[in-house]
Amino acid sequence: MDIFHTAQTKKGKALVCHSISRIRGKHHHVRYSLFFWIQNHMNTRKTGWPRVLRKAYDYRKGKQMRKFLWNCSSIFPLLLIYFVFTEDVSFSITEFHLYLDHSEACFLAVMITVIWLCSPFRTICCDGSWGVVFYNIFPIATVGMLNLAQWYFGMFVTMLIITAIAETVLLIGLKRAEKRHLITKKSQRKFYRLLPRYIVAVAVVVCAGPSLYNAVSNGFISPFYYEIQDYWRAILSNMDAKSDQEESANSLPENEVLWMCLDEDKWKTLSVQERITVLKHLMDYETDILDIPPIEIHAGLIGDATMGVYDHSINMIEINVEHLDLCPVEEVIDTVCHEVRHAFQWQVVDSIDWDNPVFQAPYFEEMRSWLENYHNYKSVWIYGYDEYENQPVEVDARDYAKKETERIMEKVRKSNEYSKSVDAS
Ligand SMILES: [Zn+2]
Repeated sequence: MDIFHTAQTKKGKALVCHSISRIRGKHHHVRYSLFFWIQNHMNTRKTGWPRVLRKAYDYRKGKQMRKFLWNCSSIFPLLLIYFVFTEDVSFSITEFHLYLDHSEACFLAVMITVIWLCSPFRTICCDGSWGVVFYNIFPIATVGMLNLAQWYFGMFVTMLIITAIAETVLLIGLKRAEKRHLITKKSQRKFYRLLPRYIVAVAVVVCAGPSLYNAVSNGFISPFYYEIQDYWRAILSNMDAKSDQEESANSLPENEVLWMCLDEDKWKTLSVQERITVLKHLMDYETDILDIPPIEIHAGLIGDATMGVYDHSINMIEINVEHLDLCPVEEVIDTVCHEVRHAFQWQVVDSIDWDNPVFQAPYFEEMRSWLENYHNYKSVWIYGYDEYENQPVEVDARDYAKKETERIMEKVRKSNEYSKSVDAS
Protein backbone atom coordinates (compact mmCIF):
# COMPACT_ATOMS: atom_id res chain seq x y z
CA MET A 1 0.00 0.00 0.00
CA ASP A 2 2.87 2.31 0.72
CA ILE A 3 4.11 1.93 -2.81
CA PHE A 4 0.79 3.18 -4.13
CA HIS A 5 0.89 5.98 -1.66
CA THR A 6 4.31 7.22 -2.77
CA ALA A 7 3.44 6.76 -6.41
CA GLN A 8 0.39 8.91 -5.98
CA THR A 9 2.15 11.60 -4.01
CA LYS A 10 4.88 11.86 -6.59
CA LYS A 11 2.35 12.56 -9.25
CA GLY A 12 0.48 14.85 -6.97
CA LYS A 13 -2.76 13.03 -7.51
CA ALA A 14 -3.43 11.79 -4.05
CA LEU A 15 -4.79 14.97 -2.56
CA VAL A 16 -8.15 13.43 -1.68
CA CYS A 17 -6.36 10.49 -0.31
CA HIS A 18 -4.29 12.68 1.98
CA SER A 19 -7.19 14.69 3.24
CA ILE A 20 -9.15 11.56 4.08
CA SER A 21 -6.25 9.92 5.80
CA ARG A 22 -5.84 13.08 7.87
CA ILE A 23 -9.49 12.97 8.91
CA ARG A 24 -9.81 9.24 9.45
CA GLY A 25 -6.30 8.41 10.49
CA LYS A 26 -3.59 6.46 8.74
CA HIS A 27 -5.31 3.13 9.28
CA HIS A 28 -8.11 3.93 6.89
CA HIS A 29 -5.79 5.37 4.39
CA VAL A 30 -3.80 2.17 4.19
CA ARG A 31 -6.89 0.06 3.95
CA TYR A 32 -8.49 1.97 1.12
CA SER A 33 -5.51 3.17 -0.82
CA LEU A 34 -5.95 0.17 -3.16
CA PHE A 35 -9.22 1.67 -4.35
CA PHE A 36 -7.66 5.05 -4.74
CA TRP A 37 -4.99 3.43 -6.78
CA ILE A 38 -7.59 1.82 -9.00
CA GLN A 39 -9.46 5.10 -9.24
CA ASN A 40 -6.29 6.94 -9.98
CA HIS A 41 -5.44 4.31 -12.53
CA MET A 42 -8.74 4.93 -14.27
CA ASN A 43 -8.26 8.64 -14.35
CA THR A 44 -4.76 8.51 -15.73
CA ARG A 45 -4.52 5.51 -17.96
CA LYS A 46 -0.79 5.99 -18.30
CA THR A 47 -0.15 4.86 -14.75
CA GLY A 48 1.69 1.61 -14.49
CA TRP A 49 3.47 1.87 -17.81
CA PRO A 50 7.24 2.12 -17.91
CA ARG A 51 8.30 5.64 -18.73
CA VAL A 52 10.22 4.67 -21.87
CA LEU A 53 7.22 2.86 -23.37
CA ARG A 54 4.96 5.71 -22.41
CA LYS A 55 7.21 8.18 -24.16
CA ALA A 56 7.38 5.97 -27.24
CA TYR A 57 3.61 5.86 -27.34
CA ASP A 58 3.27 9.56 -26.76
CA TYR A 59 5.68 10.11 -29.58
CA ARG A 60 3.41 8.30 -32.00
CA LYS A 61 0.24 9.79 -30.72
CA GLY A 62 0.09 7.21 -27.97
CA LYS A 63 -3.63 6.89 -27.48
CA GLN A 64 -4.53 5.70 -30.97
CA MET A 65 -1.51 3.46 -31.05
CA ARG A 66 -2.47 1.84 -27.78
CA LYS A 67 -6.04 1.47 -28.86
CA PHE A 68 -4.89 -0.22 -32.04
CA LEU A 69 -2.63 -2.59 -30.11
CA TRP A 70 -5.36 -3.55 -27.64
CA ASN A 71 -7.81 -4.14 -30.48
CA CYS A 72 -5.26 -6.42 -32.16
CA SER A 73 -6.05 -8.91 -29.41
CA SER A 74 -9.29 -9.71 -31.33
CA ILE A 75 -7.09 -12.26 -33.06
CA PHE A 76 -7.16 -14.43 -29.89
CA PRO A 77 -10.74 -15.79 -30.26
CA LEU A 78 -10.03 -16.45 -33.95
CA LEU A 79 -6.86 -18.35 -33.04
CA LEU A 80 -8.86 -20.37 -30.51
CA ILE A 81 -11.41 -21.41 -33.15
CA TYR A 82 -8.65 -22.23 -35.63
CA PHE A 83 -6.80 -24.30 -33.00
CA VAL A 84 -9.90 -26.22 -31.90
CA PHE A 85 -10.79 -27.13 -35.49
CA THR A 86 -7.31 -28.13 -36.60
CA GLU A 87 -6.17 -30.04 -33.49
CA ASP A 88 -7.71 -33.16 -31.91
CA VAL A 89 -9.48 -31.25 -29.18
CA SER A 90 -12.00 -33.27 -27.16
CA PHE A 91 -13.45 -33.19 -23.66
CA SER A 92 -14.45 -35.97 -21.30
CA ILE A 93 -15.13 -34.91 -17.74
CA THR A 94 -16.30 -38.06 -15.95
CA GLU A 95 -17.27 -36.12 -12.81
CA PHE A 96 -19.90 -34.26 -14.86
CA HIS A 97 -20.66 -37.24 -17.15
CA LEU A 98 -19.72 -34.87 -19.96
CA TYR A 99 -18.31 -36.48 -23.08
CA LEU A 100 -17.63 -34.44 -26.19
CA ASP A 101 -15.83 -35.80 -29.22
CA HIS A 102 -13.94 -33.55 -31.60
CA SER A 103 -16.92 -32.19 -33.54
CA GLU A 104 -18.90 -31.57 -30.33
CA ALA A 105 -15.86 -29.92 -28.74
CA CYS A 106 -15.55 -27.64 -31.80
CA PHE A 107 -19.22 -26.73 -31.49
CA LEU A 108 -18.84 -25.96 -27.77
CA ALA A 109 -15.76 -23.78 -28.34
CA VAL A 110 -17.55 -21.84 -31.08
CA MET A 111 -20.64 -21.42 -28.87
CA ILE A 112 -18.56 -20.17 -25.92
CA THR A 113 -16.78 -17.68 -28.17
CA VAL A 114 -19.93 -16.46 -29.92
CA ILE A 115 -21.95 -16.10 -26.70
CA TRP A 116 -19.06 -14.26 -25.07
CA LEU A 117 -18.54 -11.94 -28.02
CA CYS A 118 -22.27 -11.13 -28.10
CA SER A 119 -22.51 -10.63 -24.33
CA PRO A 120 -22.97 -7.19 -22.74
CA PHE A 121 -19.34 -7.44 -21.61
CA ARG A 122 -18.39 -6.46 -25.13
CA THR A 123 -19.67 -2.90 -24.91
CA ILE A 124 -18.19 -2.50 -21.43
CA CYS A 125 -14.76 -3.97 -22.06
CA CYS A 126 -14.13 -2.94 -25.65
CA ASP A 127 -13.53 0.79 -25.42
CA GLY A 128 -9.94 0.74 -26.59
CA SER A 129 -8.45 0.19 -23.15
CA TRP A 130 -6.46 -2.71 -21.62
CA GLY A 131 -9.80 -4.39 -20.81
CA VAL A 132 -10.05 -5.48 -24.45
CA VAL A 133 -7.09 -7.83 -24.05
CA PHE A 134 -8.57 -9.65 -21.04
CA TYR A 135 -11.94 -9.67 -22.78
CA ASN A 136 -10.45 -11.41 -25.82
CA ILE A 137 -8.45 -13.89 -23.74
CA PHE A 138 -11.53 -14.90 -21.73
CA PRO A 139 -12.91 -17.57 -24.18
CA ILE A 140 -9.42 -19.13 -24.34
CA ALA A 141 -9.30 -19.20 -20.53
CA THR A 142 -12.75 -20.84 -20.43
CA VAL A 143 -11.79 -23.59 -22.89
CA GLY A 144 -8.49 -23.94 -20.99
CA MET A 145 -10.42 -24.47 -17.76
CA LEU A 146 -12.57 -27.18 -19.40
CA ASN A 147 -9.37 -28.87 -20.44
CA LEU A 148 -8.05 -28.54 -16.89
CA ALA A 149 -11.25 -30.14 -15.57
CA GLN A 150 -10.80 -33.26 -17.69
CA TRP A 151 -7.21 -33.75 -16.54
CA TYR A 152 -7.17 -32.45 -12.96
CA PHE A 153 -10.70 -32.06 -11.69
CA GLY A 154 -9.55 -31.16 -8.17
CA MET A 155 -7.37 -28.34 -9.46
CA PHE A 156 -10.24 -27.12 -11.63
CA VAL A 157 -12.55 -26.89 -8.61
CA THR A 158 -9.80 -25.16 -6.58
CA MET A 159 -9.30 -22.56 -9.33
CA LEU A 160 -13.05 -21.90 -9.47
CA ILE A 161 -13.12 -21.38 -5.70
CA ILE A 162 -10.07 -19.06 -5.84
CA THR A 163 -11.70 -17.08 -8.67
CA ALA A 164 -14.93 -16.80 -6.68
CA ILE A 165 -12.98 -15.62 -3.59
CA ALA A 166 -10.97 -13.09 -5.63
CA GLU A 167 -14.16 -11.69 -7.21
CA THR A 168 -15.90 -11.53 -3.82
CA VAL A 169 -12.95 -9.69 -2.25
CA LEU A 170 -13.05 -7.22 -5.12
CA LEU A 171 -16.81 -6.64 -4.76
CA ILE A 172 -16.79 -6.46 -0.94
CA GLY A 173 -13.88 -4.01 -1.06
CA LEU A 174 -15.72 -1.78 -3.48
CA LYS A 175 -18.95 -1.96 -1.50
CA ARG A 176 -17.12 -0.97 1.69
CA ALA A 177 -15.40 1.91 0.00
CA GLU A 178 -18.78 3.03 -1.28
CA LYS A 179 -20.39 2.71 2.14
CA ARG A 180 -17.77 4.92 3.73
CA HIS A 181 -18.26 7.50 1.01
CA LEU A 182 -14.74 7.06 -0.21
CA ILE A 183 -16.01 7.01 -3.75
CA THR A 184 -17.63 10.21 -4.98
CA LYS A 185 -20.90 10.11 -6.87
CA LYS A 186 -19.18 11.01 -10.08
CA SER A 187 -16.48 8.40 -9.80
CA GLN A 188 -19.04 5.85 -8.59
CA ARG A 189 -20.72 5.72 -11.96
CA LYS A 190 -17.40 5.22 -13.65
CA PHE A 191 -16.48 2.62 -11.10
CA TYR A 192 -19.54 0.47 -11.74
CA ARG A 193 -19.14 0.90 -15.45
CA LEU A 194 -15.63 -0.47 -15.18
CA LEU A 195 -16.38 -3.16 -12.62
CA PRO A 196 -17.13 -5.94 -15.18
CA ARG A 197 -13.76 -5.20 -16.72
CA TYR A 198 -12.05 -5.92 -13.42
CA ILE A 199 -14.14 -9.04 -12.91
CA VAL A 200 -13.07 -10.38 -16.31
CA ALA A 201 -9.43 -9.47 -15.65
CA VAL A 202 -9.40 -11.21 -12.24
CA ALA A 203 -10.97 -14.39 -13.70
CA VAL A 204 -8.49 -14.50 -16.58
CA VAL A 205 -5.46 -13.83 -14.35
CA VAL A 206 -6.41 -16.52 -11.81
CA CYS A 207 -7.25 -19.20 -14.41
CA ALA A 208 -4.48 -18.47 -16.93
CA GLY A 209 -1.58 -20.09 -15.04
CA PRO A 210 -2.96 -23.59 -14.32
CA SER A 211 -4.80 -23.93 -17.63
CA LEU A 212 -1.70 -22.84 -19.56
CA TYR A 213 0.47 -25.29 -17.63
CA ASN A 214 -2.04 -28.07 -18.31
CA ALA A 215 -2.36 -27.19 -22.00
CA VAL A 216 1.43 -27.28 -22.43
CA SER A 217 1.92 -30.55 -20.55
CA ASN A 218 -1.18 -32.47 -21.74
CA GLY A 219 -2.45 -30.69 -24.85
CA PHE A 220 -6.18 -30.28 -25.41
CA ILE A 221 -6.94 -33.95 -25.95
CA SER A 222 -9.20 -35.80 -23.58
CA PRO A 223 -7.29 -38.19 -21.32
CA PHE A 224 -9.42 -40.99 -22.73
CA TYR A 225 -8.91 -40.12 -26.33
CA TYR A 226 -5.54 -41.82 -26.56
CA GLU A 227 -4.18 -44.47 -24.35
CA ILE A 228 -2.88 -43.61 -20.91
CA GLN A 229 -0.98 -46.78 -21.22
CA ASP A 230 1.29 -46.37 -18.21
CA TYR A 231 -1.57 -45.59 -15.92
CA TRP A 232 -3.57 -48.59 -17.02
CA ARG A 233 -0.56 -50.84 -16.84
CA ALA A 234 0.06 -49.71 -13.28
CA ILE A 235 -3.49 -50.58 -12.23
CA LEU A 236 -3.31 -53.75 -14.26
CA SER A 237 -0.18 -55.02 -12.54
CA ASN A 238 -1.60 -54.04 -9.15
CA MET A 239 -4.73 -55.94 -9.92
CA ASP A 240 -2.82 -58.97 -11.15
CA ALA A 241 -0.81 -59.00 -7.94
CA LYS A 242 -3.97 -58.53 -5.90
CA SER A 243 -5.91 -61.25 -7.69
CA ASP A 244 -2.95 -63.63 -7.35
CA GLN A 245 -2.82 -62.92 -3.65
CA GLU A 246 -6.53 -63.28 -3.18
CA GLU A 247 -6.66 -66.43 -5.22
CA SER A 248 -3.88 -68.09 -3.28
CA ALA A 249 -5.12 -66.82 0.08
CA ASN A 250 -8.76 -67.71 -0.33
CA SER A 251 -8.17 -70.38 -2.93
CA LEU A 252 -10.78 -68.73 -5.13
CA PRO A 253 -11.45 -70.30 -8.49
CA GLU A 254 -9.82 -68.72 -11.52
CA ASN A 255 -11.36 -65.43 -12.74
CA GLU A 256 -13.30 -65.07 -9.50
CA VAL A 257 -11.99 -61.49 -9.05
CA LEU A 258 -13.20 -60.66 -12.54
CA TRP A 259 -16.71 -61.93 -11.77
CA MET A 260 -16.74 -59.95 -8.55
CA CYS A 261 -15.79 -56.74 -10.41
CA LEU A 262 -18.50 -57.36 -12.99
CA ASP A 263 -21.16 -57.42 -10.31
CA GLU A 264 -23.43 -54.40 -10.89
CA ASP A 265 -23.00 -53.06 -7.32
CA LYS A 266 -19.22 -53.36 -7.45
CA TRP A 267 -19.11 -52.03 -11.04
CA LYS A 268 -20.87 -48.83 -9.99
CA THR A 269 -18.10 -48.05 -7.49
CA LEU A 270 -15.30 -48.38 -10.09
CA SER A 271 -13.81 -45.40 -11.89
CA VAL A 272 -13.73 -45.34 -15.69
CA GLN A 273 -10.05 -46.32 -15.69
CA GLU A 274 -10.68 -49.21 -13.34
CA ARG A 275 -13.54 -50.37 -15.56
CA ILE A 276 -11.21 -50.41 -18.56
CA THR A 277 -8.84 -52.58 -16.55
CA VAL A 278 -11.62 -55.00 -15.68
CA LEU A 279 -12.68 -55.12 -19.34
CA LYS A 280 -9.09 -55.84 -20.31
CA HIS A 281 -9.31 -58.93 -18.11
CA LEU A 282 -12.67 -59.88 -19.55
CA MET A 283 -11.24 -59.54 -23.02
CA ASP A 284 -8.27 -61.76 -22.17
CA TYR A 285 -10.77 -64.30 -20.87
CA GLU A 286 -12.75 -64.11 -24.13
CA THR A 287 -9.72 -64.28 -26.43
CA ASP A 288 -8.63 -67.38 -24.48
CA ILE A 289 -12.00 -69.00 -25.13
CA LEU A 290 -11.92 -68.12 -28.84
CA ASP A 291 -8.22 -69.00 -29.01
CA ILE A 292 -7.10 -65.78 -30.68
CA PRO A 293 -4.17 -63.46 -29.81
CA PRO A 294 -4.78 -60.82 -27.10
CA ILE A 295 -6.41 -57.56 -28.20
CA GLU A 296 -5.66 -54.02 -27.07
CA ILE A 297 -8.52 -52.13 -25.44
CA HIS A 298 -8.93 -48.36 -25.42
CA ALA A 299 -11.63 -46.03 -24.25
CA GLY A 300 -12.41 -43.21 -26.62
CA LEU A 301 -14.94 -40.64 -27.68
CA ILE A 302 -16.33 -42.38 -30.73
CA GLY A 303 -19.73 -40.72 -31.06
CA ASP A 304 -23.02 -41.30 -29.27
CA ALA A 305 -24.32 -43.99 -31.63
CA THR A 306 -21.31 -46.32 -31.40
CA MET A 307 -20.74 -48.45 -28.31
CA GLY A 308 -17.58 -50.13 -29.49
CA VAL A 309 -15.39 -50.54 -32.54
CA TYR A 310 -12.92 -53.23 -33.58
CA ASP A 311 -10.08 -52.07 -35.80
CA HIS A 312 -8.45 -55.14 -37.37
CA SER A 313 -5.56 -53.15 -38.87
CA ILE A 314 -4.16 -52.52 -35.36
CA ASN A 315 -6.02 -55.33 -33.54
CA MET A 316 -7.62 -52.93 -31.11
CA ILE A 317 -11.07 -52.54 -29.58
CA GLU A 318 -12.23 -49.08 -28.70
CA ILE A 319 -15.08 -48.75 -26.20
CA ASN A 320 -17.12 -45.57 -26.00
CA VAL A 321 -16.21 -43.81 -22.74
CA GLU A 322 -19.73 -42.47 -22.34
CA HIS A 323 -21.18 -45.98 -22.73
CA LEU A 324 -18.60 -47.30 -20.28
CA ASP A 325 -19.51 -44.71 -17.68
CA LEU A 326 -23.28 -44.66 -17.93
CA CYS A 327 -24.54 -48.04 -19.15
CA PRO A 328 -25.31 -51.08 -16.97
CA VAL A 329 -22.49 -53.60 -16.76
CA GLU A 330 -24.48 -56.17 -18.75
CA GLU A 331 -24.56 -53.93 -21.82
CA VAL A 332 -20.85 -53.25 -21.52
CA ILE A 333 -20.07 -56.99 -21.32
CA ASP A 334 -22.25 -57.49 -24.39
CA THR A 335 -20.30 -54.80 -26.26
CA VAL A 336 -16.95 -56.35 -25.36
CA CYS A 337 -18.07 -59.85 -26.39
CA HIS A 338 -19.52 -58.48 -29.63
CA GLU A 339 -16.28 -56.73 -30.57
CA VAL A 340 -14.11 -59.68 -29.53
CA ARG A 341 -16.23 -61.84 -31.81
CA HIS A 342 -15.51 -59.44 -34.69
CA ALA A 343 -11.81 -59.86 -33.89
CA PHE A 344 -12.29 -63.63 -34.03
CA GLN A 345 -14.13 -63.41 -37.37
CA TRP A 346 -11.34 -61.34 -38.81
CA GLN A 347 -8.70 -63.78 -37.54
CA VAL A 348 -10.53 -66.66 -39.16
CA VAL A 349 -11.09 -64.88 -42.47
CA ASP A 350 -7.51 -63.62 -42.52
CA SER A 351 -5.82 -66.92 -41.66
CA ILE A 352 -7.61 -69.06 -44.24
CA ASP A 353 -6.06 -69.55 -47.65
CA TRP A 354 -9.22 -69.08 -49.67
CA ASP A 355 -7.59 -70.27 -52.91
CA ASN A 356 -7.08 -73.70 -51.38
CA PRO A 357 -9.84 -76.01 -52.72
CA VAL A 358 -10.28 -77.49 -49.22
CA PHE A 359 -11.95 -74.28 -48.10
CA GLN A 360 -14.50 -74.44 -50.88
CA ALA A 361 -16.33 -77.12 -48.87
CA PRO A 362 -19.82 -76.29 -47.55
CA TYR A 363 -18.41 -76.59 -44.01
CA PHE A 364 -16.72 -73.20 -44.51
CA GLU A 365 -19.78 -71.52 -45.94
CA GLU A 366 -20.40 -69.31 -42.95
CA MET A 367 -16.77 -68.20 -42.85
CA ARG A 368 -16.91 -67.50 -46.58
CA SER A 369 -19.92 -65.30 -45.95
CA TRP A 370 -17.85 -63.39 -43.36
CA LEU A 371 -15.09 -62.92 -45.94
CA GLU A 372 -17.54 -61.57 -48.50
CA ASN A 373 -19.18 -59.45 -45.86
CA TYR A 374 -15.85 -57.89 -44.80
CA HIS A 375 -15.17 -57.04 -48.44
CA ASN A 376 -18.39 -55.06 -48.63
CA TYR A 377 -19.33 -54.22 -45.11
CA LYS A 378 -22.63 -52.35 -44.83
CA SER A 379 -22.25 -49.39 -42.54
CA VAL A 380 -25.32 -48.24 -40.66
CA TRP A 381 -24.84 -44.67 -41.94
CA ILE A 382 -25.14 -45.63 -45.61
CA TYR A 383 -27.35 -48.73 -45.65
CA GLY A 384 -29.58 -48.05 -42.67
CA TYR A 385 -30.06 -50.02 -39.49
CA ASP A 386 -31.86 -53.07 -40.95
CA GLU A 387 -29.25 -53.91 -43.57
CA TYR A 388 -26.48 -53.31 -41.03
CA GLU A 389 -28.10 -55.59 -38.46
CA ASN A 390 -28.74 -58.44 -40.88
CA GLN A 391 -25.33 -58.81 -42.50
CA PRO A 392 -23.60 -62.12 -41.56
CA VAL A 393 -20.79 -60.75 -39.37
CA GLU A 394 -23.20 -58.67 -37.29
CA VAL A 395 -25.72 -61.51 -36.88
CA ASP A 396 -22.95 -63.81 -35.71
CA ALA A 397 -21.37 -61.24 -33.37
CA ARG A 398 -24.76 -60.38 -31.88
CA ASP A 399 -25.68 -64.02 -31.26
CA TYR A 400 -22.32 -64.80 -29.74
CA ALA A 401 -22.41 -61.70 -27.49
CA LYS A 402 -25.91 -62.55 -26.27
CA LYS A 403 -24.97 -66.10 -25.31
CA GLU A 404 -21.65 -65.09 -23.76
CA THR A 405 -23.22 -62.26 -21.74
CA GLU A 406 -25.85 -64.62 -20.33
CA ARG A 407 -23.16 -67.15 -19.40
CA ILE A 408 -20.94 -64.49 -17.80
CA MET A 409 -23.81 -62.91 -15.88
CA GLU A 410 -24.64 -66.35 -14.51
CA LYS A 411 -21.03 -66.72 -13.31
CA VAL A 412 -21.21 -63.23 -11.76
CA ARG A 413 -24.43 -64.14 -9.94
CA LYS A 414 -22.95 -67.39 -8.61
CA SER A 415 -19.75 -65.67 -7.51
CA ASN A 416 -21.82 -63.01 -5.74
CA GLU A 417 -23.88 -65.64 -3.91
CA TYR A 418 -20.70 -67.49 -2.98
CA SER A 419 -19.01 -64.38 -1.54
CA LYS A 420 -22.20 -63.54 0.39
CA SER A 421 -22.30 -67.01 1.92
CA VAL A 422 -18.59 -66.70 2.82
CA ASP A 423 -19.29 -63.32 4.47
CA ALA A 424 -22.22 -64.77 6.37
CA SER A 425 -20.36 -67.79 7.73
ZN1 LIG B 1 -20.69 -55.30 -34.82
